[in-house]
Amino acid sequence: MKWENRGQSRNVTDNRGRGRGGSVGGGMASLGVGGFLIVLVLSLVFGVDLFSLLGVNSPLSGGGLGADTSTGVTVPGANASDDEMVAFVSSVLDDSQATWAGIFEENGIAYDEAQLVLEDGDVQSACGVVPEAAGPFYCPLNETIYLNFAFYDALQNQYGASGDFAQAYVIAHEMGHHIQNLLGTATDVRQQQQTNPAQANQLSVALELQADCFAGVWGGEQTRAQQSSSRVASITQADFQEGITAAAAIGDDALQERATGRVNPEAFTHGSSEQRVSWFSRGFETGDPSACDTFAAL
Ligand SMILES: [Zn+2]
Repeated sequence: MKWENRGQSRNVTDNRGRGRGGSVGGGMASLGVGGFLIVLVLSLVFGVDLFSLLGVNSPLSGGGLGADTSTGVTVPGANASDDEMVAFVSSVLDDSQATWAGIFEENGIAYDEAQLVLEDGDVQSACGVVPEAAGPFYCPLNETIYLNFAFYDALQNQYGASGDFAQAYVIAHEMGHHIQNLLGTATDVRQQQQTNPAQANQLSVALELQADCFAGVWGGEQTRAQQSSSRVASITQADFQEGITAAAAIGDDALQERATGRVNPEAFTHGSSEQRVSWFSRGFETGDPSACDTFAAL
């Protein structure tokens, strides 16, 4: 897939490296806020960086006080290819949002932009603490996608789904959950799951398959539109195959087989590999969100 590096999106925040003393926050934590301010004032008064004398990460060296990772500045130590990954994620996110904003506008619905936070380790999200092993997720409370690059490694090395479009598909799927949130589908499904617990898994599968279909809608629209303003310049048939491979690799049956050696369709929450491939393809080929009614068959 061809894409243009336009740096970090304003909707992407890089929170990686937090809690490892790589930020101003690390220095504050070990000195205490009061101590931090005292040392800062004394350093400025005496013109000596007392932080380094105390062996604490100094806000006066490196990026300065403005270099708080929470503002989206890449943490120190990030190498060039890492910057490129941040730019890649930004491109896919921005492009997907532009596609959906267009679809919403055509239908007279207000579009609200999603945020994306890059994390490493366990995630303290607005939806609670989520372990790293759980993979990427969308939190509707703050309309934010949380993504860990470790999942991309797992996708390639454990699930055999490599390539940039496999990675793009993951973001496009989470964007699908954002669309469901904006359309009220996610809330409806949660209510239905409460009133009808016996159908809770089937409803969850339908929600996930619809997110796959929505991911396909973006990919397909992108292939057809080729807008000059878009950051993702082209998606080819080979890219489509990467998406298919990724969708198949993380089907519930494939994941269960890997984990337990058995497949139990009753416990599915995301759909089988075949279902995921089929709905992703359907979205891709039609480019039409209304073709993504995965609930009709329930
Ligand atoms: Zn999902």
